[in-house]
Amino acid sequence: MSEPLFRTPKGTHDVLPQDHQYMTYIKKAVRHRARQAGYKRIDTPMFESRGVFERGIGEHTDIVEKELFTVTGKKDNEGKAAEFALRPEFTAGICRAYVEHGMQQLPQPVELYSIGQCFRYDRPQKGRYRQFHQIDLEVIGLKDPSLDAQLIYVVTKILNDVRILDRLTLQINNIGTAENRQAYVAALKDFFIGKERNLPEEDARRLQTNPLRLLDSKNGDTQVLVRNAPKLEQFLSGESKQFHETLLEYLDELGVRYVPNPGLVRGLDYYNQTVFELWDQSTGAQNAVGGGGRYDGLIELLGGKPTPGVGFAGGMERMIWHMKEAGVRVPDKDQVDVFVAQLGPEAKKKCLALVSELREKGVHTLGALGEASLKSQMRLADKFQAKYALLLGKMEVKEGTIILRDMQAGKQKQIKYGQAIPQVIKLLGEKNLDTYVLRDQIGEVDED
Ligand code: AMP
Repeated sequence: MSEPLFRTPKGTHDVLPQDHQYMTYIKKAVRHRARQAGYKRIDTPMFESRGVFERGIGEHTDIVEKELFTVTGKKDNEGKAAEFALRPEFTAGICRAYVEHGMQQLPQPVELYSIGQCFRYDRPQKGRYRQFHQIDLEVIGLKDPSLDAQLIYVVTKILNDVRILDRLTLQINNIGTAENRQAYVAALKDFFIGKERNLPEEDARRLQTNPLRLLDSKNGDTQVLVRNAPKLEQFLSGESKQFHETLLEYLDELGVRYVPNPGLVRGLDYYNQTVFELWDQSTGAQNAVGGGGRYDGLIELLGGKPTPGVGFAGGMERMIWHMKEAGVRVPDKDQVDVFVAQLGPEAKKKCLALVSELREKGVHTLGALGEASLKSQMRLADKFQAKYALLLGKMEVKEGTIILRDMQAGKQKQIKYGQAIPQVIKLLGEKNLDTYVLRDQIGEVDED
């Protein structure tokens, strides 16, 4: 094979048909669990005004400082160009939509979910791409620990449906209110006075811009210093502590297992109170499958009235990786049931109708009507791993018969032409037919 002229850009990948089997399986679980719990689907644009992310996620977070995929529009008459960014996550865009569409007028909380591509201009490595897929759930408009508990419960249901929950641990923490954190950040800065020299350059800068990030620094020197620094826990208000205790009680009630983790802060500015992540049991934080938390200040930052919210985002590629590691087998919905082979102009004409009719009945049918020899057609039937083949030659047309071949058993029999479809359906089983029906009168169309 010659070297291709073009390849996917660094950090991106094609989602090939075999990967879609996993994607579809996950999407089904998300849709099913989300609908059970009253979530409605929302799709926001893949790009937004940069400010949505800069304000929402925070200017001094890794996502905005280093990973934002920016897009500049064309210059207008005044020579100004709009500044956009590809979405690095869903929450900020969904909250922008909540404000823009006046969703505070709806009964609260508004529960929304989304599935789609996100973009981060990160250094690509295993499990870290520049374009990847997230599943996302948001509960906006009310503040109560029962909502956090219910959201987390739905997330564990989804992960259990795709059979990877037991490979993960739910890490959970409360990072307090914005005021709690302000007091803590001041104490942290005080603590580091005179110690800046011992910090690596990046962490010394973070001490100024986003000191909380020091808590989950990967640098050994920083970690040693942080061990003796004041703890966020000491700055939590009674209200925050109460909120967290109640949440943990609710999770116990729901039978959700968790690991309290006082070091968990998450990298985004908008979080307050509850934060949680689902870690790979073996590798820990580096390969979190998902995470989320409460963001009671975000909507106000985006220009709306103060409105609480709590949400979760999970990475689909990482979920698929776990499913494969765990040996989860997903159904292959693209299997070929029947391959129709023919010889001669009359047979070809009849097969054209036969193929359509089989398909109409819900049988996955292929036919190489362009191929000349019967032998090459049967070779194709083999390659497509068809379960059955129907062969129609000149003789059969004359006799009003057709040959039905069981491809795996390698056995075949001649049957009446009119029996072809009923026989195939009987062999496959009615329940295995892929019929496309609109479930409701006005049609509930399956989203992609
Ligand atoms: P975050 O909000 O940054 O914790 O992202 C939520 C989830 O999205 C993570 O737990 C990952 O599963 C996934 N994710 C985030 N960034 C990437 C990336 N660059 N490539 C693949 N998956 C990612």
